[in-house]
Amino acid sequence: MQVLKFGGSSVASATAISRVLDIVSDAAGRGRMVLVSSAISGATDLLIECSKSDSGKRQKLLEDLKNRHFEICRRLFTGRERTEACERLQEIFNDLSQSPLEDYPAFGELLSTSIIAGKLNCDGVRALWIDSRELIRCNENGVDYKLTYERIRKAIHDHPEIEVFVAPGFIASKSDGKVCTLGRGGSDYSAAIYAAALQADRLQIWTDVPGIMTCNPKDVKKARTIGRLSYESAFALASHGAKVLYAPTVEPARQAGIDIEILNSLDSSQSGSIICAQKAREKGEWVGIASQKKDSLSQICLVADGAIDPDDCRELERRMHKYNIPCSPWTIEDGNCCTCTLPRDDEGEALKLLHRQLFETEDRKRIYLAGCGAVGQALLQIIDSSSAKVEVVAISRHESEDDAFFQQLLHGDGESRIFVDCTDSEEIWKRYCDILEAGVNIVSSNRRAFSIGYKDYARIKSCARRNRCFLRYETTVGTALPILNSIASSTNSADEILSLQAVVSCTLNYILTSGLPFKEALERAKEIKLTEKDPSQDLSGRDALRKLLILAREAGIALEESDVKIEPVSEERILPGQRFVASLEKDADARLGYRAGIRLENLDPEHPALRLKGTENMVIIRSAFQPSALIVQGAGEGARMAASGVLNDILR
Ligand code: ASP
Ligand code: MG
Repeated sequence: MQVLKFGGSSVASATAISRVLDIVSDAAGRGRMVLVSSAISGATDLLIECSKSDSGKRQKLLEDLKNRHFEICRRLFTGRERTEACERLQEIFNDLSQSPLEDYPAFGELLSTSIIAGKLNCDGVRALWIDSRELIRCNENGVDYKLTYERIRKAIHDHPEIEVFVAPGFIASKSDGKVCTLGRGGSDYSAAIYAAALQADRLQIWTDVPGIMTCNPKDVKKARTIGRLSYESAFALASHGAKVLYAPTVEPARQAGIDIEILNSLDSSQSGSIICAQKAREKGEWVGIASQKKDSLSQICLVADGAIDPDDCRELERRMHKYNIPCSPWTIEDGNCCTCTLPRDDEGEALKLLHRQLFETEDRKRIYLAGCGAVGQALLQIIDSSSAKVEVVAISRHESEDDAFFQQLLHGDGESRIFVDCTDSEEIWKRYCDILEAGVNIVSSNRRAFSIGYKDYARIKSCARRNRCFLRYETTVGTALPILNSIASSTNSADEILSLQAVVSCTLNYILTSGLPFKEALERAKEIKLTEKDPSQDLSGRDALRKLLILAREAGIALEESDVKIEPVSEERILPGQRFVASLEKDADARLGYRAGIRLENLDPEHPALRLKGTENMVIIRSAFQPSALIVQGAGEGARMAASGVLNDILR
């Protein structure tokens, strides 16, 4: 035996009812069933309004209700069948007009099921309408399950020839025989009662959304269907405002051990949700969010599939306050759900924020950070204070030796894992290929990793390509200035680089523009942490060399250290009007067709690089397609700027 329940919107029109009949005929292949139906959508509201209106208004409302039902009949039936279906409806409307007002709400389900049972019979299905008022009996404590189950079993047992029993949801009767209802939304409950009584092997609740969702999709567009959830989670969501299911439905199904399937009658191909027995986890994971408004307040409830960590609640509270959403402290109820209250007007914002925080993690970048120097620390600060969807999964302070960190990185899950290298390790690049092979993207501000031998460099690049991972290192030259991208896009568009002039040593730019004597300027540069740890790396041109290798390679030129002629800086050689320039120029006689050098250059007074001040950087790119040079100029230094460049690489 199976029980299928259809909600008001599933039976709201002739078209909707036709869809129901298709679903029923599919299900009929699996055996007999009880079909429980709600009133057509809006009917119960209208009947309740009728019962409270004066007779003039009541007549008008009833006329509306009649028209809607007769219209469905006219579309669903033809000829004699139509006449008979309309006669049956008319009888119910006659009863309604003679009933006491308090009985009005019960009529919606009588009307809808009369149409459905009639249609099934016309289609040649052996269908029988059964009267839930006689079968479901309530006493002062609610449903009298024992009596109810006996009656239902007998009613079904008496008719072995019937394929589809059609039962109105929502309605029942009291011990004195008076009609009553199971509460608003109660048809779900009726279905569970029928299912439990008959030990049904299937209980399906067909509605107009794709199952129980992580949040009401009207509030949060990104809400998604929860595939499986426990009876406890479903109950918690339903009793805290998730309208898709009437909370009392859960208990009879749970007791009888019957799974509840929640399905979308508008699209029966969607798999929906299954509510079933599941053991609570020791540490709960979030299942969904429900909310309900009361007067000027709203209560939000977060449901987990096991115990909730109070620290998690405090963290959420902190987030909400950060976004200026005033909320009461979260309180944990029953271990698996927690609630807070807030002004009704803030509900929408809060739901979006919480949903993003708890469920939209798949489009969140998960970073594993190596290196906690100035740049790494600035990066953590920026991430913490921004709303960027970046989750810091792990941090390694020990650069390339931290095996535990790399194990975690390689075996972590999630599509958008990113390894962020903010170290200045000379060795860490040896791990890059393994990282890329594991499907992890790389963002690096470590220029040492890209100024290695060309063969190794090329291997890392092709590894990234093969594994469809990104490998971004824009900050390795000119910090956050968009230099590498500019070169790469020229190169990718078949443009040919004619020359590059890079004034990218912050230390030397500072020394040359400070107006101070050389030694003093160098001391200063060291003090303000401009220089490499060992300043001779700057003066010897080593740092500029790394940058030039990266620039040239970005332009598709397989430059090696040995191709670059370097003239180190020394105090005696410095003259006014000079800049320390790393350059690359087409030269047919050179090994790669380009001549590369790094030296102090006496620049023409018109040269743009003479405009540079302090630690500014400049790169001048001349290419075949560009009639005039592309000049990128701007601040070349600063941990925060580097960090923001790294974040940009992470997010873009
Ligand atoms: N028709 C009833 C109501 O609107 C019961 C139901 O739809 O579940 O509350
Ligand atoms: Mg409902």
